[in-house]
Amino acid sequence: DAARRAIATHTRLVPDFPQPGIAFKDLTPVLADPVGLASVVTALTHGCGDVDLVAGIDARGFLLGGAVARELGVGVLAVRKAGKLPPPVHTRTYDLEYGSAALEIPAGAVELQGRRILLIDDVLATGGTVVAAAQLLISAGATVSSIAVIMELAGLGGRAAVARELGETTAVHT
Ligand code: IMP
Repeated sequence: DAARRAIATHTRLVPDFPQPGIAFKDLTPVLADPVGLASVVTALTHGCGDVDLVAGIDARGFLLGGAVARELGVGVLAVRKAGKLPPPVHTRTYDLEYGSAALEIPAGAVELQGRRILLIDDVLATGGTVVAAAQLLISAGATVSSIAVIMELAGLGGRAAVARELGETTAVHT
């Protein structure tokens, strides 16, 4: 379909970034292309069911999340890297391949209790990032009904990590 064609045409492969041996998939040109942006945003909304709020993960998830939320007619919440949001915040630290990172959402500024969230990011690799973001939202009382990404990197166990940590009720769409 249009999204798959745009991803195949416009994704830039960057060897040895951010570490030697890693081939980074740079989706920047996909989002900068009008057909690319429109088609991936529409694809991200497919099969998401009823959603009250979209959450986008820092930073390409912000670009996508805002557009997806507009398409669904709901609002958007930024799941930010630590240290950017004013207090009070909820924080969750998680392991990366090298080191650790932390994500934050506002505590109290946005009502999350009982809200059904569609969580958006650009790439699913090991799943650590989306799992941490989902756990953060769940700890604030929300339900993460689905996770949608543009690209899943095969062989890194992302989907299995989501199923293990979040259960089968959270659907993953690519
Ligand atoms: P994970 O936590 O291992 O699943 O890594 C996913 C996170 O790292 C996402 O927020 C992505 O934006 C980023 N990421 C990992 N690999 C790539 C890549 O090849 N291209 C773009 N982003 C990537």
